[in-house]
Amino acid sequence: MIDIQHLEKYYDKKHAVKGISLTIQPGEIVGFLGPNGAGKSTTVKILTGLISASEGNAFINGFSIKEHPVEVKKSIGYVPETGALYESLTAWEYLELIADLHYIERPVFEKRAGEFLELFGLSEEKNKRLSGFSKGMRQKVLIAAALLHDPPVLLFDEPLNGVDANTALVFKQLLRRLSQRGKTILFCSHILEVVERLCTRIIIINEGELVTDGTPEQIARDTGHASLESAFNAITGGADADAKAEGFMQALKGLDE
Ligand code: ATP
Repeated sequence: MIDIQHLEKYYDKKHAVKGISLTIQPGEIVGFLGPNGAGKSTTVKILTGLISASEGNAFINGFSIKEHPVEVKKSIGYVPETGALYESLTAWEYLELIADLHYIERPVFEKRAGEFLELFGLSEEKNKRLSGFSKGMRQKVLIAAALLHDPPVLLFDEPLNGVDANTALVFKQLLRRLSQRGKTILFCSHILEVVERLCTRIIIINEGELVTDGTPEQIARDTGHASLESAFNAITGGADADAKAEGFMQALKGLDE
């Protein structure tokens, strides 16, 4: 379970998160959406303990991010938006390191890491250095690392960045299975089509504030928009895409003259 209470974050004077409160129950797959700069990654990073909150608190599986940061880290699997990997390690060594940090027993590590790499089609590359991995291959290693200790709470920040369509399909199925096993899943993505199909609930934030919270059907009903894409555009005050595109064309025309 994730319980966020009046969370605030300032970066100097920038008020990035403005009093967000929400609860996510085990078994839910929640899509966490918002325009660029809305505060999604900041919120997720606070939940992981990577950065601290300016005000408020959050509880992961009942553990406070302020009072029990180690218990929180044990309880989460996190795929960051831009993940730094130890480039000189091989994929296997990297997973081994993560397993050691979580005190995973050797046979359990070997079985899980072997199966994850196999499922992601990386078995043959497992002894190659991460410095030679493509963006999508790295992303697969990060996803495998997040799942290795079988945590109850999963925080995915743009997890499908760079992965191919086949892997995305496997990942979506995997998330459904994990939610059926009672995992609490928070999923940041800009791919609205995926969110609409996968998530049981959608939370939209804009300029650091929660603006919508509901099932895809509720959001469609409340906004009168059939697709999540047009509902998102209306809720977050997105400009008319056609007018914007025309603006770009006009700017190009100006350059030609
Ligand atoms: P995106 O969809 O583009 O990834 P986001 O919703 O994840 O955006 P955040 O990365 O949380 O947005 O950023 C929220 C706001 O906080 C933005 O205005 C951003 O410029 C600011 N911000 C984020 N990180 C920092 C930082 N380390 N220092 C200063 N400002 C920051």
